[in-house]
Amino acid sequence: MTQSSIVKRLTEPHAGPVPFSVEFFPPRDEQAEERLWRTVRIFERMNPAFVSMTYGAGGTTRDRTLRITGQLARETTLLPVAHLTAVGHSIEELRSMAGGYADQGITNILALRGDPPGDPLGDWVKHPEGLEYAEQLVRLLQDLGDFNIGVASFPEGHHRAPDLDHDTKYLVSKLRAGAQYSITQMFFDVEHFLRLRDRVNAADPEQGAKPLIPGIMPITSLASVRRMVELSGSVLPADVEKRLSDAAGDGPDENRESVRAVGIDLATEMAQRLIDEGVPCLHFCSLNFAKATSEVLERLGMNSIAA
Ligand SMILES: Cc1cc2nc3c(=O)[nH]c(=O)nc-3n(C[C@H](O)[C@H](O)[C@H](O)COP(=O)(O)OP(=O)(O)OC[C@H]3O[C@@H](n4cnc5c(N)ncnc54)[C@H](O)[C@@H]3O)c2cc1C
Repeated sequence: MTQSSIVKRLTEPHAGPVPFSVEFFPPRDEQAEERLWRTVRIFERMNPAFVSMTYGAGGTTRDRTLRITGQLARETTLLPVAHLTAVGHSIEELRSMAGGYADQGITNILALRGDPPGDPLGDWVKHPEGLEYAEQLVRLLQDLGDFNIGVASFPEGHHRAPDLDHDTKYLVSKLRAGAQYSITQMFFDVEHFLRLRDRVNAADPEQGAKPLIPGIMPITSLASVRRMVELSGSVLPADVEKRLSDAAGDGPDENRESVRAVGIDLATEMAQRLIDEGVPCLHFCSLNFAKATSEVLERLGMNSIAA
């Protein structure tokens, strides 16, 4: 059976002013997997438009991503999107992964190039029998069958793009190649998102009409967010960094409770502004925990369990 497409799902009735979605990653061990399933069950009651499961670059989490995404499709009421990255794979392997998803009834795929495993900012080396860019993966998936395809976008520009025009040009190419929507990298300055939306609209209004879904991460640790931002080649805006560092304090260990409170405030403020700006969905990077995201949703009046 073919899954509902994400674009269709975003138009279906939902609680609150806008639908939301949640990103998970494949757990490393049994204990982490138990926690993931507890988180999944909490979100299930909140009726997200979709959930997505990341894929370790180069296939490092291939079996777990495939297995857990399959379980999400079979054993929950959630609509899962499987991430798939081209890096380190031959075209044959990518075909086989896509076939593995289709066999489990998963037809929503987020098509990505991926970063070099080990060092995301390291040199990109194409697999000799593989693909160079996500756009080629979009085309491959389209040739293979009935997939509903999404792609990644970058409010601050992708770290390998020489400038924002280049970045916009190739995002538009991925959309023209058949991607139906894009999800952005997490960001902390709404202006960057709005300018990306303007650039895509100006470059090609038809592609600009496709859902551009903002990625939001409620910050719960300053040290972790600094590391994540660094690995993705972006920066924390100065005012955000200041609010978080003030909350963290000067001690050797950051004041986690204060940082968390500021992180929830920041995510709520950003999400509200994005709702006011008419975004089609809010995509939360949950880090496999439900609490921070549900608090933000509750403050936005979008937590159907709390209500
Ligand atoms: C929402 C989201 C989810 C993600 N999930 C995962 C995940 O599950 N696993 C994982 O490993 N990584 C994931 N990533 C990270 C992503 O794989 C990396 O950021 C990667 O570096 C870029 O992937 P892409 O699909 O945007 O690449 P591409 O669209 O191929 O772009 C890569 C670079 O090449 C440029 N470019 C594109 N096409 C061309 C062309 N034809 N000619 C010249 N230049 C071109 C682009 O401007 C960009 O600089 C995710 C990112 C996002 C935003």
